[in-house]
Amino acid sequence: MLLTFQQAKQQMLQRASAIKSLNCEKVSLFDALGRITTEPVMSPINVPSFNNSAMDGYAVRLSDVNQSKLLPIAGIILAGDDISNLNWPQGTCLRIMTGAPVPNDADAVVMQEQTEKSELGITFLNEVKVGDNIRRMGEDIKKDTAVVSKGEKLTIPILSTLATLGISEVLVFKKLKVAILSTGNELTPIGEPLAGNSAIYDSNRFTLKLLLTELNCDIVDLGIISDDPAQIKQALIAASNQADLVITSGGVSVGDADYTKVALEALGKISFWKIAMKPGKPFAFGNIGEALFCGLPGNPVSTLVTFYQLVQPLILALSGVEAPAIDLTFKVSTATNLKKSLGRVDFQRGMLQINAQNELEVSTTGQQGSHMTQSFKQANCFIVLEQDRGNVSKGEQVTVELFNRLLK
Ligand code: AMP
Ligand code: MG
Repeated sequence: MLLTFQQAKQQMLQRASAIKSLNCEKVSLFDALGRITTEPVMSPINVPSFNNSAMDGYAVRLSDVNQSKLLPIAGIILAGDDISNLNWPQGTCLRIMTGAPVPNDADAVVMQEQTEKSELGITFLNEVKVGDNIRRMGEDIKKDTAVVSKGEKLTIPILSTLATLGISEVLVFKKLKVAILSTGNELTPIGEPLAGNSAIYDSNRFTLKLLLTELNCDIVDLGIISDDPAQIKQALIAASNQADLVITSGGVSVGDADYTKVALEALGKISFWKIAMKPGKPFAFGNIGEALFCGLPGNPVSTLVTFYQLVQPLILALSGVEAPAIDLTFKVSTATNLKKSLGRVDFQRGMLQINAQNELEVSTTGQQGSHMTQSFKQANCFIVLEQDRGNVSKGEQVTVELFNRLLK
């Protein structure tokens, strides 16, 4: 029995949770995008830190407006003004601007669009309620409360919040060190002429570099290794000595030149090397000493799908992420027939779109062979077809999983 996709993913995440956390380092807020916090971040101030006006208008006492709808203007408060020595006579209002401090005895700010100005002063056209247009101290963030928890991935909105608090540095986990290598006698590095009639470009190592960069990993690139057991072994030893995680592409299937699995067996431990998923049936997971190991299948589509579905969650966990964002999955009707064989979960590439009836529907991107790189080009989601499901007809409900930012 092949391991199911969920069993495999669970096993990998369990292994990650047993590994001790990475060390931490302090980085400037500007360098912190995508990094993972090692501790909660507490707010050193209230936000807003003083009561201030949400509008350009007039600050009033309710008792004054209740007595007279027409109040003379006693003064003006601009953003940044110090109002500690403000003199505000009863029976008057104050001109006030957005962001300017609101005096303690003001009950409301009336937006100027709801007033009329004359030589005598300001006429208030509508009813005024206590608290109107006053942004209260601490209503956004209270001093000494946690604004970020431990193990959170720092996004632009989070970093923007920290900037609001005046914070300029943050403690994050050190980057995960990941070693990559490609196996295959047929591989030529990109940018060079193809080395022979049966050569292909080593696109996987390039793809892995992009993916790992996006996930904020430190990359150790060990290049292309020939299909030679001794050379693969040597490369895996070098990789595992330098990295927290080793990722290879190719050589984990059952072909005569698939030596990666054999080398892993000799050097470390294989936890599993086959999963009931498509693409990606040959996918090896294990460890070499302290380093974890993921052996990705060589076909470019399989590499990308297994990385996304299995390696990405593993890397997030190893990097210190405590509650990863939940992938957006939901059911829609398929606008095209989908070929599916029983026994494995399929991660087909789909295009989710709005049809002429204004309804969401998904269609296939076409040929789904694991060597057909074009299946990913227009895709914006996976069509996840359950293990025990067969062919799917147009109009049936299918589960789609929207790509997260790793593929966008
Ligand atoms: P393998 O997993 O080594 O049996 O390879 C499966 C298929 O993927 C073969 O057609 C390989 O030529 C191709 N392949 C292997 N490694 C790479 C790579 N790094 N880049 C692109 N294609 C590859
Ligand atoms: Mg190979």
